Amino acid sequence: MNIAIIGTGYVGLVSGVCYAKLGHRVVCVDKDPEKIAVLNSGGIPIYEPGLKEMAAESRLAGHLVFTTDLAFAVRRSDIIMLAVGTPPLPSGEANLAYIDQAAIEIAEAMNGYKIVVVKSTVPVGTNERLAKLMRSRTIMRFDSVSLPEFLREGSAVEDTLRPDRIIVGAECEGAAEQMIRLHEPLTEQIIVTDIRSAEMIKYASNAFLATKISFINEIANICEKVGADVTKVAEGMGYDKRIGPSFLKAGIGYGGSCFPKDTRALIQIAGHVDYEFKLLRSVVEVNQDQRFNVIRKLEAIFGSELPGKTIGVWGLAFKPNTDDVRDSPALEIIRHLVDRGVKAKAYDPIALPNFRAIFGKEGVEWCNKAEEAAQGADALILLTEWDEFAGVDLARLQRVLKQPILIDGRNMFKEEHLAGTDFAYYSVGRPSLS
Ligand code: NAD
Repeated sequence: MNIAIIGTGYVGLVSGVCYAKLGHRVVCVDKDPEKIAVLNSGGIPIYEPGLKEMAAESRLAGHLVFTTDLAFAVRRSDIIMLAVGTPPLPSGEANLAYIDQAAIEIAEAMNGYKIVVVKSTVPVGTNERLAKLMRSRTIMRFDSVSLPEFLREGSAVEDTLRPDRIIVGAECEGAAEQMIRLHEPLTEQIIVTDIRSAEMIKYASNAFLATKISFINEIANICEKVGADVTKVAEGMGYDKRIGPSFLKAGIGYGGSCFPKDTRALIQIAGHVDYEFKLLRSVVEVNQDQRFNVIRKLEAIFGSELPGKTIGVWGLAFKPNTDDVRDSPALEIIRHLVDRGVKAKAYDPIALPNFRAIFGKEGVEWCNKAEEAAQGADALILLTEWDEFAGVDLARLQRVLKQPILIDGRNMFKEEHLAGTDFAYYSVGRPSLS
């Protein structure tokens, strides 16, 4: 099938590469000429395991093309997918300006019947509104499909080619059938619903996952006070099939470009129909507060001496295996520390350039190696659980730190890792070791 994907970011690029892998002819469009130039020269503007090699294969086979020319892509395709960003407005609502603009451009370029698919995360009713907007700009026939995206950054290729489910929201049977053809051989995972339900499934899923995270973080906070170990509690809970083991990892809370934005957007969506989503409001509040868990620990250790201390920071991305730093907890934590007069030394294996570009403050020494960030620091805080950190020699780490204090915001280390060292070790929801 001939597909155009509008918006070549994390979602659009991964989808484009994976649809090409499934044998379709894909044109990926972006309005950012630099991004397209990088892609056309064989590069990949984001870090996503496995993506570069797969993109190169499909480009070579002539199945995958990158362009800034939206009209060209629309004219040669039967299926047009929208994967542009829907970032949050200050109110928390999704900013639909990019998707509206792209829909108008698509309508104006249409040269015959098309299926217009929305992959971006959009509030319930947006597909209908976009269809109206497009009908005011074209006389060509088209059908709308909502195809919400569930990939996780860091394992996006795997998630796309081995999805738990594919939700197809369609009112027209023919369009739904085309979506089934498009996803062969993954058809067993497809669930067809109406468009509004598909739009809601995306928000409800992210809100539920965020709820699980905030829930276990609150349990962790209580564990710290009662002397229980949240990792054992989560494991014990997870054996219950009704609960399940995933998303029960306590830490410094969720971040990234989806959960924070989608939870706030769903609160707004509910508010617009006079419904106060009290549970989700609390989930967001708990998550916001959880970022300060490591700061509270630093305060407890250093008291009024905290300003002027040097703190090493390991991990800046909102989670491992991605260079995405949008709404990463590390941003707020390090900004707060710097404002308190702390000198931060920061390191991340992949995300440092992106982080540095948006950090916007002085007071951080950017380090090229993990050990460099720990060198001479009064304490080390771990904010992203990159594999690289799991493999460090803790005895050596202890020697480079000024004081052997490790605050593990992701519960990466176990007691046995620390055996034979003098670390004062603090984690989230587990007894401290010293
Ligand atoms: P992104 O910011 O990485 O990419 C969006 C791209 O769209 C940018 O490259 C931008 O230049 C381009 N763009 C904007 N307007 C355009 C236009 N008119 N024509 C051509 N290109 C245009 O965003 P993303 O992270 O890929 O997210 C896209 C959507 O998917 C969002 O709605 C997001 O909520 C949703 N989503 C994201 C993820 C994720 O993990 N990133 C997962 C599931 C769903």
